[in-house]
Amino acid sequence: MVKKQYDVIIVGGGPGGSSTAMFLARNGVKDVLLVDKARFPRDKICGDAFSGKSLGIARELGIVGEIEKVPNEVVYGVTFSSPKGTIVDIPFPGADRERKTKPGFCIKRFDGDNVLFQNAKKAVDTLEEFTVQDLVMENGFVAGVKGRTKAGEELEIRAKVVVGADGTSSAVAQKVGVGVSPPEHQVIATRGYYRGVKGMNGNIELHFIDEVMPGYFWIFPLANGWANVGLGILTSEKQKRKMDIRKLQEDVIRNSALFRERFRDAKIDNQGIKVWTLPLGSYHRKNHGNGWVLVGDAASLIDPFSGEGVGNAMTSGKITAKHISRALMENDTSEKSLSQYDKELWETIGPELRTSYNLQRLGKFKPLLNIVIEKAATKPKVREAISGMLANEQAKTQFISPLGLVKLMLS
Ligand SMILES: Cc1cc2nc3c(=O)[nH]c(=O)nc-3n(C[C@H](O)[C@H](O)[C@H](O)COP(=O)(O)OP(=O)(O)OC[C@H]3O[C@@H](n4cnc5c(N)ncnc54)[C@H](O)[C@@H]3O)c2cc1C
Repeated sequence: MVKKQYDVIIVGGGPGGSSTAMFLARNGVKDVLLVDKARFPRDKICGDAFSGKSLGIARELGIVGEIEKVPNEVVYGVTFSSPKGTIVDIPFPGADRERKTKPGFCIKRFDGDNVLFQNAKKAVDTLEEFTVQDLVMENGFVAGVKGRTKAGEELEIRAKVVVGADGTSSAVAQKVGVGVSPPEHQVIATRGYYRGVKGMNGNIELHFIDEVMPGYFWIFPLANGWANVGLGILTSEKQKRKMDIRKLQEDVIRNSALFRERFRDAKIDNQGIKVWTLPLGSYHRKNHGNGWVLVGDAASLIDPFSGEGVGNAMTSGKITAKHISRALMENDTSEKSLSQYDKELWETIGPELRTSYNLQRLGKFKPLLNIVIEKAATKPKVREAISGMLANEQAKTQFISPLGLVKLMLS
């Protein structure tokens, strides 16, 4: 039974919203309503990689055991290919296929998000199939949400704080007027589920092929012989070149020398190729104000190089829950009080996002990508450097520093 007034309403039950709910409950804030326009389990267009960062937060929430029970594929490393066609396998640090350590998973969001949402449901009130359409405003503060149930009933529910965890086209972000990320800070990407792709090796695969530069084509392994296949490119480039990215994916699969044979017997599921936008963390979008905060994609927090966003959505949920709990205790949910969320969030993930943005910009230089991947294919030291970079922020920064690059060229 949904009440008329809560301490906190969270709009969106994806990784950002469900994590916020679980961390709020853990902090003792239980007068919380989590709403979503969908009914769980629900699909989300994604690469389905559940990285070490996401796994770390899931571990803190005590739900890794449940994640391991739904269909998933353990991933051990990354396979890169260069524009010239050189291929190299880089293991994740600590990946050990013999001892079956689990550095990361690929897990369909249909299953993974359901684990998060069902656990949030144990901790707070929930309302599914409720679409938020507007905010309640009072004395310059957000004071609740207005929306419609699937049956068409209009509801107004009030709260001291509203969390916008409603993804890329966040209604909350639009209503508070923070706008959308500019096209040079967005990626547009495809996703298709294929069965029967040959040559999968337990790694996620990132292919820097000519047709998709600046961006990449990916093949990620899933349980039961499925693969998540897609490509992503900066929205600004897509607009400039007037690309049809669905068709581009079909062309790459049909015609590219690297993939023609591997996809010869592969079949796509009946959803076909889907398209969605990734708001990148190279743009620091305003994420708080009087009585409101944004987390996850609504706050534009996706890694600009890897396209990973689940880990940062969960991290922002954890940090915002800490500051909402404090703000409620202090009876001060003003913009000034909630600005401490923004400060801690960007101190935590800002350096990594900046480094990834630099990597993304370097990745536009085809000759550099060719050299780095060719070096990695022949030199264990370079493979080690990249492996370290995948796990360690400082190593990543050194790797892309001018001195780091010169060292790599000369190695
Ligand atoms: C093609 C593609 C590939 C990607 N690959 C990866 C990857 O492999 N690994 C990775 O970590 N990240 C990946 N990402 C990024 C990742 O999908 C997002 O960063 C992540 O989903 C963000 O979580 P979230 O909770 O902020 O938003 P979402 O997961 O989008 O959840 C938002 C929720 O809000 C609900 N909602 C929306 N509007 C309303 C409304 N008005 N009222 C009520 N409910 C509403 C939706 O139903 C949804 O459940 C990829 C993204 C794309 C597009």
